[in-house]
This record gives sequence, structure tokens and C-alpha cells, in this order.
Amino acid sequence: MTMQVSKTIGTTDKVALDAPIFDPVAFRLSDEQAGIITRAREIGQSVFAGRAATYDREAIFPTENYRDLHRVGLLGIAVPKKHGGLGANYQTYALAAAEIGRYCGATALTWNMHVCSTLWSGPLADDLDMDAETRAEHERRRAVHYKRIVEDGAIYSQPFSEGGAAAAGGVAFGTEARPVEGGWIVNGKKIFASLSGHADYYGVLCTEIEEGEKASRRNTLYLAISAKSEGVSVVGDWDPLGMRGTVSRTLLFKDVFVPEDSALMPRGVYFQAAMRWPHMFLTLSPTYMGLAQAAYDFTVRYLRGEVPGMPPVKRRMYPTKQIAVAQMQIKLEQIKAIWFQAVTEARANPSKEQVLRAYAAQYSVMEGANELAALAIRTCGGQAMLRSLPLERIYRDSRCGSLMLPWTAELCLDRIGREALYETGETDD
Ligand SMILES: Cc1cc2nc3c(=O)[nH]c(=O)nc-3n(C[C@H](O)[C@H](O)[C@H](O)COP(=O)(O)OP(=O)(O)OC[C@H]3O[C@@H](n4cnc5c(N)ncnc54)[C@H](O)[C@@H]3O)c2cc1C
Repeated sequence: MTMQVSKTIGTTDKVALDAPIFDPVAFRLSDEQAGIITRAREIGQSVFAGRAATYDREAIFPTENYRDLHRVGLLGIAVPKKHGGLGANYQTYALAAAEIGRYCGATALTWNMHVCSTLWSGPLADDLDMDAETRAEHERRRAVHYKRIVEDGAIYSQPFSEGGAAAAGGVAFGTEARPVEGGWIVNGKKIFASLSGHADYYGVLCTEIEEGEKASRRNTLYLAISAKSEGVSVVGDWDPLGMRGTVSRTLLFKDVFVPEDSALMPRGVYFQAAMRWPHMFLTLSPTYMGLAQAAYDFTVRYLRGEVPGMPPVKRRMYPTKQIAVAQMQIKLEQIKAIWFQAVTEARANPSKEQVLRAYAAQYSVMEGANELAALAIRTCGGQAMLRSLPLERIYRDSRCGSLMLPWTAELCLDRIGREALYETGETDD
């Protein structure tokens, strides 16, 4: 289904823009970073916010938003400049994604899957070890992906989850790639595949395996499989609690031939990234940073009697409301502080302290966004959670953050506890 919406970013002049979540001066961002992040905020507030309710209600993919993301250059946000993209680094992308999440959670979350295809194969891969020949080959291949994105508006997704322990990083992926002349034959199944039926390429993690060989995480391949390939199908319903516009259905791969040039990373490089660049898994959090800000913004506006479509009744004079807003503001600032630090220090070979902080940041954002949304509902009251207003959607969307593998809220606790108490290789034997 396509929505009848014709708003463009040109409508920005009619909207008083919100202040950025992270003020560029206070958070020491460059002008170039601030420009990219403003672009995301403008399109989020002036265009995506108005469409979000329909995508959510109908559980349909935000196709129109993707056309707009392409039009304003944001599909290629992390594509290196020499390939025609905006060349954003990890921090810039994260801050821009938070601004999109503030106005449409499903768009930000799916955009994350798309952008990671370029962030991981781009600046992140540049930090990893490859011999000169492998790097040259990677350069040639990624140029093909980037050209499709920048010129044609191609959309990539990231279906990793399989329902077992693989997406948590415990075992090798069950989706298998058997090497054949000129490529691989891929077989397997991915659950919760956001953008299914809407992405042009599925960035699939799978295990390269020869006949009779044992599956190993070291042999993980990251392949961009064309949605049009023979043997690819999308099955199952999609009618979830939140993040309904992500359309995260099940993907099946049955004897799909995938040519060599489809590799988003050379052999062995995904495993190296997972070991040496752990912040790659923190990229699901920006969406929820934005939702946390949205819950707070809504509450302030509501209590000031400034929510569009509602009578201008003020509720801000009650001391209990003021205390609730104070608690929300403190929680929001705590989340912002740890999250900003974590996305700023994302790099190869982080220290143990930085890794523990990244888990803590993920936990704080994913749980905190929903806590803020719950507080917002309690504080604003019954009329504020009607479906005609965005708060109940923010509440439902934010509930999904803790479930995102490999760094679910539970797994973050698990890792922090273990890694704080044990050094690598230490046992109690
Ligand atoms: C809206 C939405 C969009 C999504 N989009 C994508 C996508 O695009 N691509 C993608 O790959 N996935 C996606 N996912 C899937 C997501 O990352 C998880 O894989 C999925 O939610 C896991 O389902 P489950 O909770 O039933 O998994 P289970 O494996 O049953 O895990 C249940 C819980 O147990 C805990 N757990 C799991 N493994 C371990 C372990 N080894 N040790 C201790 N505890 C453990 C975790 O806390 C987990 O939340 C999406 C999920 C949602 C909700």
C-alpha cells in the first residue's frame, strides 16, 4: 500500500524546528556534522512525523520516507565521499539516526539496517586488517554497492536473526553458503527480517561451509543477496506490538545462487569486526535515543498545553507534574551522557572500560526509552495516550529496544557481569 502523502523537505519553512537532541556547540560537533544531523532532523520533523501514524496503524513499510532519504542524500550517509556519499563517521550517523528516531521509530530502525551495510563495509572495515590484494578487491566490490545506493536509491537490510543462539554471537549462523564456481549456493531462514519484501538487497550473515565441514563462526560471510534472486521468498504475518512499520517478516533462502561480488566484507572480516569493533552492535540504539527524547518532548508540550490538536489546557502548575518532568529530564540527561560518550569512543580495539560502557549505554537507552515513555503516559494522563497522539506509539516502539540481539538488555547485563569479573581466558578451575 502506498500512502497519499506529498510532503517534501521543502515544507520545513512552515515548521518551527525542534532544538537538536545534542546541541552542536555543547557537544563539540563540527559544522559538517551539525549540517548532516540537521538534515536528518528537518526531514524527520517536517515530513516523517506526519506519516508515522499511518505506517504504524497499517503496519506498512515507509517506502515514501526512503524515497525522501534518497532525495536528500541520507541513504548514502555513511558511504565514503569518494563514492558519492556524505562520508559520515560512526558518531555522526548515530546522532543523525537519533533525530530520525525522534519522529518515526520504524524509519530510524530500518534505516539503521540499511546504513550498517555501508558503515560496516566502509569506515569500520577500513580499521580492520586485510592484505593489500584483499583490500583492493573489497574496494572494487563495495564501490558497486555504494553506486547502487547513491545513484539508484537501492535499499539494503540486515537479516541476521535465526531464532537460535547465532544472532547472540553464541554459535555459527545456520544459514549456509556452499562455495560453487563464481559464488555460493545459500540455504537458510532468517526471522524478524526488517524491510522484508521492501529491501532491494538482503545483507545476510551466513556460514561458508564445504561438504562435511563443521560450521565455524570464523567462516561467517556477509553477503548482499538480491531480493529478486531465484529461491528468495518472504513468508509469515507481521502484526506486532511496536515498530510495526519495520515489516520484519521471515525470509527463506532455497538454493539461492549468490555471485562472489555480492560480498559486503571479504572472508574472515566479519568475524574480525565482531571481535575487534564491538560498537558495531550498538548501532540499534540511536533509534531509541530518539524515542527517549520524543517521550520527554511530548510531555513538556502536553503539560504546557501546546500539543497540536488538543485544547490549550495547561497542566504544568501542579507540583506533581513538575516533579515528574524533573525526573524525566534527569533520566534523559543520564541516558544522553552515557550514550554520547559510547558513540563518540566507538573504534577498533576499544579498552575493556569502553566495551563495558558500550553495553551499559545500550542497556540504559533501550530500557530507559521505555521507562521515559511509561512515565510520560502516567504524567500526561488518559487523553495523552489516545491513538490520535504519538505518545502511545512511542511507548510501544520503545518497548522493542530491549529485544534487539545481539545486545538485548538481558545479554548486556550478562556480559557486563561476566566481563567485569573475569579477564579474557580466566576461569575458576
Ligand atoms: C521490531 C523488530 C525488528 C527486528 N529487526 C531485525 C532485523 O532487521 N534483523 C535481525 O537480524 N533481527 C531483527 N530483529 C530480531 C531481534 O534482533 C532478535 O533476534 C529477536 O527479537 C529475538 O527473538 P527472541 O527474543 O524470540 O529470541 P530468543 O533467542 O528466544 O531470546 C529470548 C531472549 O533470551 C535472551 N537470550 C538469547 N540468547 C541468549 C543467550 N545466549 N544467553 C542468555 N540470554 C539469551 C535474550 O535476552 C532474548 O531477548 C528484530 C526484532 C524486532 C522486535
